[in-house]
Amino acid sequence: MGSAKSIFQVVSRFNTEDACIAHLERIRWPKGLRCLRCGKKRIMRFQAEGKTGKERHLYECVDCRYQYSVTAGTIFHDSHLPLVKWFLAIYLICSAKKGVSALQLQRELEIGSYKTAWYMAHRIRLAMRDDPQFCRKFAGIVEVDETYIGGSRPGRCGRGAANKVPVVGIKERASGKVRLQAMSNLRAPALARFIRLHAKKGAEVHTDEFASYNWLNRSEFKHEAVNHTKTYVRGNVHVNGIETVWSLFKRGIAGAFHHVSPKYLPLYLDEFAFRLNHRNHDNLLDAVLTTTG
Ligand SMILES: [Zn+2]
Repeated sequence: MGSAKSIFQVVSRFNTEDACIAHLERIRWPKGLRCLRCGKKRIMRFQAEGKTGKERHLYECVDCRYQYSVTAGTIFHDSHLPLVKWFLAIYLICSAKKGVSALQLQRELEIGSYKTAWYMAHRIRLAMRDDPQFCRKFAGIVEVDETYIGGSRPGRCGRGAANKVPVVGIKERASGKVRLQAMSNLRAPALARFIRLHAKKGAEVHTDEFASYNWLNRSEFKHEAVNHTKTYVRGNVHVNGIETVWSLFKRGIAGAFHHVSPKYLPLYLDEFAFRLNHRNHDNLLDAVLTTTG
C-alpha cells in the first residue's frame, strides 16, 4: 500500500476525504493509532463540526484526554482545503520534471485564490527539503559546479554577473544524488564550506578550472579539474552530470515560473533536488505526506 504511480491512481484511490484520511492514518501510524502526546494506544475516534462548518475527524486519547486530528503536525494542518486537493497537488509537484507554478495549481485544482494556491505550493516545497543535517555525505567521485540563476539575460553570463544569484551544486557519481544551494558569493571559503558539508573526506572532487577550487589540491579531498574552454571530458573527469542539472533547472524556471525571487530560490532548488533524488521512489507521495511541518 502507499505508492501512487500515475495521476489516474491518485485520482481513483484518493477520491474522497475519507480515503485520504484513511491513507494518512495508515502511513502515520502503521502499527495502529497512538496518542500524539503520551504515546499510548487506547484512542477513540469521533467527528465534530469545525469553525467553518466542515466536518472534522478527531481522535481522543483515553488515558490523557488529548484531542488531535489526522493532520495535526503535518503540512495540511489548519488548511481549509480538502485533502483530495492536497494529495493531487503533491503528486503534481513531485512528478512534474519542470516544476508546477502556483497558477497552474490554482487552475488544475480549481482553487479559489492565487494566494491559497501559492501557499499550498510553498508548504509542499518546504516539506520537500532534504535537511543536510540528516543526510549522509557524498563519497567516491563527486562533481561540483557553479552557475548563475535569474537576471534579465538568459544563460551563463560569466562569473560575477550582476543581477544573478550564484548557485553551487554537488552530484555523487555513483548514486546520481544531488544537493543544490544558493550562495552569497563563489569565493573559495564559501565553496569550501559547501563541499565540506556535503562530501566525505577523501572524496574525489571533479570541478572546472575556476580558481575558487584551487584549495582542493591541498585539502583532505582528491581534486581533478577539466578545462572548459579546451575539453569537457578527460577520461572520467567531467562535470557533465551537474551541468545537466543546471540546464534542466533553468528550463524549469523558464517553463513554469516567470521569475523566481532570490528569496525563494533556495526553496525551488530544494524542491528540484528532492524530485531528482526521489525519482525512482514510488512512495514519493507518502514521503511528502508524512513530513511534519
Ligand atoms: Zn494520550
